[in-house]
Amino acid sequence: MPQYEIYVLCTECGVEHPMRVRIYLQDGPANKQSIAEIFQGTSVPPQVSAIQGHKTLCLKTGRTFIQQSDDRIFLVPAAAGIFFPKFPS
Ligand SMILES: [Zn+2]
Repeated sequence: MPQYEIYVLCTECGVEHPMRVRIYLQDGPANKQSIAEIFQGTSVPPQVSAIQGHKTLCLKTGRTFIQQSDDRIFLVPAAAGIFFPKFPS
């Protein structure tokens, strides 16, 4: 199943930041698209609704924020080559 990175438009600085969360989505978009675009007229799957209201760290201000607008939350196919190395836990 395709993997997606989640990007969120920051309410603090106005730049997109990675949520550092990945979800698996069947029949997801081939390119970067907002949740609002992808699920227009259909119900949002549970793994997507789980990230709505999820806190994202603003890399610029060091503060966390929650983006409420679905048109400012983006799914980016992980296979598109954008990859953030995971720090060892
Ligand atoms: Zn920010």
